[in-house]
Amino acid sequence: ELILNQVVKKFGDNVVVKNISLSIKKGELVSLLGPSGCGKSTTLRLISGFLEPDGGKITMNDSEVTHTPPNKRDTALVFQNYALFPHMTVAENVAYGLKMRKVPKSEIKSRVSEVLKMVHLDHFEDRYPGQLSGGQQQRVALARAIIVNPRVLLLDEPLSNLDAKLRDEMRNEILSLQKRLDLTCIFVTHDQEEALVLSDKIVVMDEGNIRQIGTPSEIFDSPKSYFTAHFVGVRN
Ligand code: ATP
Ligand code: MG
Repeated sequence: ELILNQVVKKFGDNVVVKNISLSIKKGELVSLLGPSGCGKSTTLRLISGFLEPDGGKITMNDSEVTHTPPNKRDTALVFQNYALFPHMTVAENVAYGLKMRKVPKSEIKSRVSEVLKMVHLDHFEDRYPGQLSGGQQQRVALARAIIVNPRVLLLDEPLSNLDAKLRDEMRNEILSLQKRLDLTCIFVTHDQEEALVLSDKIVVMDEGNIRQIGTPSEIFDSPKSYFTAHFVGVRN
């Protein structure tokens, strides 16, 4: 489904993604796990097309998308800080992607209701982001991403601003939505436990490199390097 082949990204002289190769199957939930600054967000931006790689190839469903602009790719990215439009209502925020794609108004309205129901935010259509809790804003961001029926859903630490209880709830919701819609999903986190409970596969990253790819039990039970062992052993 999604293949990264020897992908490189530099900012000036700083190589922040170093020849990473990765392949993700349809319907899989893969976590990118690694410390701050290791290149997780950059990798998601490369996949979504907000950044162009300096080397390597990205393929989705057998067609190369390495230099395809974001709106021509079947991906949706939920940013680390949600990035909702503050001057737009919940409904307008959620509708945004469909408006960009010139979907007819009547269809937009029914799709917005449908996805807001999925994230348990029906009745919030007319509120502004500033009038919502962090968890509710997070759900709006999720609704805004899934409304375009992305082939690949990219989530950048979507739960990091939530308290423990809400984080647990949202984890389960994301997981059930992902299964129900059979979404291919890449979930960025620096939380080991989150990666363990959510993922089909975990990609451990460090300083722009992939250190190990495996199922949660492979990563936690047979780490292949000191870095991985140490990193997944740390509890915060
Ligand atoms: P975090 O867990 O803190 O979000 P991350 O793994 O997502 O970290 P990235 O945001 O991908 O890390 O950043 C990787 C490296 O690239 C960092 O050293 C960062 O300073 C650098 N970097 C990211 N974006 C830019 C940019 N636009 N210009 C220059 N350097 C950048
Ligand atoms: Mg990041």
